[in-house]
Amino acid sequence: MDDPRVSRQSALLGVLAGHELDGLLVSHLPNIRWLTGFTGSAAILLIAPGRCTLVTDFRYASQAPQEVGDLAEVHIAPRSVWGRVSRLLADTPGSRIGFESHVVTVRDADRLKGYLGTRLEPAADLVESLRMVKDPSEVEAMREAAALAQEALAAVVPTIRVGERELDVASRLEAALRQRGSEWHPFETIVASGPRSALPHARTSDRVLERGEFLLLDFGAIVRGYCSDLTRTFVLGPVDPRQRAIYELVESAQRLAREGIRAGMLGRDADALARDPIAERGYGEAFGHSLGHGLGLEVHEAPRLAATSEAALPPGAVVTVEPGIYLPGWGGVRLEDDVWLSPDGPVLLSDGRTTLVQLDA
Ligand code: ZN
Ligand code: ZN
Repeated sequence: MDDPRVSRQSALLGVLAGHELDGLLVSHLPNIRWLTGFTGSAAILLIAPGRCTLVTDFRYASQAPQEVGDLAEVHIAPRSVWGRVSRLLADTPGSRIGFESHVVTVRDADRLKGYLGTRLEPAADLVESLRMVKDPSEVEAMREAAALAQEALAAVVPTIRVGERELDVASRLEAALRQRGSEWHPFETIVASGPRSALPHARTSDRVLERGEFLLLDFGAIVRGYCSDLTRTFVLGPVDPRQRAIYELVESAQRLAREGIRAGMLGRDADALARDPIAERGYGEAFGHSLGHGLGLEVHEAPRLAATSEAALPPGAVVTVEPGIYLPGWGGVRLEDDVWLSPDGPVLLSDGRTTLVQLDA
């Protein structure tokens, strides 16, 4: 099979030509990984027609050439990576070089502008716009990451007990993810119980789980660098009618969205698939965040599924679908699955098991 990194680099060169840039300084690490395979924590990549130079430091002197092979020339900067990049730029007088203005600090940009002969131009999200479209190897990694997260959840759910803390549940879930091969956690695992489930981005706390309340788990796995992102909400013991009604409303909205979403749709129209039915029942105010986000090497990437997004969802994107209803002081429900927008329609990468489960806790 052809190395996808070769076609990614040539696609990027096409984008640069369209922006009348002679090259791009790539400093966002997930972009560098996507273009070259380098997984280290410090590097800058200069990519231009006929040239792909990765500057990193001594810690990666053996790892970097191994990972990038002949896809980039590796330079080890003895002192400063940016200093070495500046010297490389000095070799390209008159060129118009873009830098990733959405990630470079003002200090580093000023430092680079001090170098004569090269015109540095702010250029945001060029690599990110290409990364939206996933190739089969990326989709497969995310499918595995979702399966791994589901297996970890299935192992932990029967062990959850009333009287233990949210932190205890999170620690067993994180251990189960690692045991099954997750490279790391794509974000801080959220375990939110009772009224804390009404906080969309709750931090896992030492709150003790009580009978009859919601338990919301938002977590994921990483496989070959690619993330999964899932949310499930359970009830600890008997379900009351209001819990059931809210849960079923979120469940049906989530199902409508994950089945109705299509490549080519505007981000706001995708968002409306779940938002409209929730708003019709009077809970529009209680669904205060957007429907979902792109997923890949980063857990939050383009495209956005949001009421404010006028951009069309590209075929090949992988996105989360995660509506929620949050009632302060009472509790909340969020259900999240990962969906690949294939040219033939949406394909669930996670299991979509969103039916209400009452834990025997
Ligand atoms: Zn999530
Ligand atoms: Zn998410």
